[in-house]
Order: sequence, then structure tokens, then C-alpha cells
Amino acid sequence: MFNLILFGPPGSGKGTQSEKLILQYHLKHLSTGDLLRSEINAQTPLGIEAKKFMDKGQLVPDEVVIGMISSALDTYPDVKGFLFDGFPRTSAQAEALDKLLELKRAPINIMIALKVTEEELVKRLLKRGQTSGRSDDDNDVVIRTRIGEYNKKTAPVADHYKSINKMVMVKGEGTVDEIFNALCKEIDNRMRQ
Ligand code: ADP
Repeated sequence: MFNLILFGPPGSGKGTQSEKLILQYHLKHLSTGDLLRSEINAQTPLGIEAKKFMDKGQLVPDEVVIGMISSALDTYPDVKGFLFDGFPRTSAQAEALDKLLELKRAPINIMIALKVTEEELVKRLLKRGQTSGRSDDDNDVVIRTRIGEYNKKTAPVADHYKSINKMVMVKGEGTVDEIFNALCKEIDNRMRQ
């Protein structure tokens, strides 16, 4: 298996690049944001609970997203690998993921962190809010809260993968294709190792 974490703040382009990467490398895309929004649309108890946090720009509790990822891993036992998008977002989630993958004897091969300035992030998110219909994208305060949550709780996750030599950084500004090519270069390098 080849397991990849695409990491970065809200608005860094994880979703856009994930769509291209799963086609290139035949990976199963697991986006906790997308999984949570499906639960909201289906009005499940999990979705109703999660929405309260998401609307405020706060992280959904760890046990909720860890449970979701755990069952997603079991749903696709025969894939070539997973692309984790928006997960892990806290140190507890990273620990849980490492344990789940250990059971499968298929650890994370690489984490790629997209680097984008905060000014550019806010600009992109507000622009997306005009068309996405996502209520967490059209409000300046909610966007700042999300970036604050990222800096406080999510950024430390990168240090964990850095300490085990699995983290690489890629510039998340430029054209979609330029960024995609830079990501592919890192992945191809790692696959050859
Ligand atoms: P973005 O990366 O643009 O913030 P996502 O779709 O990844 O968008 O996430 C939207 C919201 O869903 C987050 O602000 C958070 O409330 C919730 N969420 C998604 N993934 C997680 C996670 N792994 N842990 C906690 N909350 C999450």
C-alpha cells in the first residue's frame, strides 16, 4: 500500500489537488470534511452534532472523526492506498491513525504539507464562499477561527511526521498544475525509496 497525508491549512488547495492525485496514483480519497458534510446532508445524529462545531469554525471532537476514519478504512480493504485529506488534524488523531494503519501493516509513507500565506488563504476562502454554498466559507470571523484552530491544534501534527522523516513541504501558490507537478515529484521520489 501507499498511504499519503495531504496536509495544510483551510484553503491551501488540499481538495483540488486530492482530486488530481487520486487519479494519478489510484488512491482512495478520504476527506473528513466531505464525510462530515455527507453526514450533515443525510441529517444523521453524527452530522447534526458535527454541524454545531463546523458552523463556528471549530474542530469536530476527535472521537467522532477517528470513528469515521476507522470505519472508512474497513470499508475499502483492497485499495492500493489512501489519500488522507483534512485528517489527522490533531495529535490525538495522528496517534489513532498510526495505530489503525499499524494493524494493517501499512504505515503512512509520506505527509506533504502545502504552504500558503495567511493573507492568500483568507482571500481564497472568501472567494470560495461566494459559490460553494458552504456556510463556513462566507464569514470572516469563522474563517479566522478555522485558521486559529489550525495554528493551535493542527500545525503540531506536522512536527510528528517530521520527526520520523516523513514530512515534506511544497509551495501551495502558483497554478494548479505547477503545484500538482511539485506534489508528484515528491511522491515519485518517495515511491522509489
Ligand atoms: P477546510 O480544509 O477548507 O477547512 P474541510 O472540508 O477539511 O475544509 O473541513 C471543514 C470543517 O470540518 C472543519 O472546519 C472542521 O470543523 C471539520 N473537520 C474536518 N476534518 C476534521 C478533523 N479531522 N477533525 C476535526 N474536525 C474536522
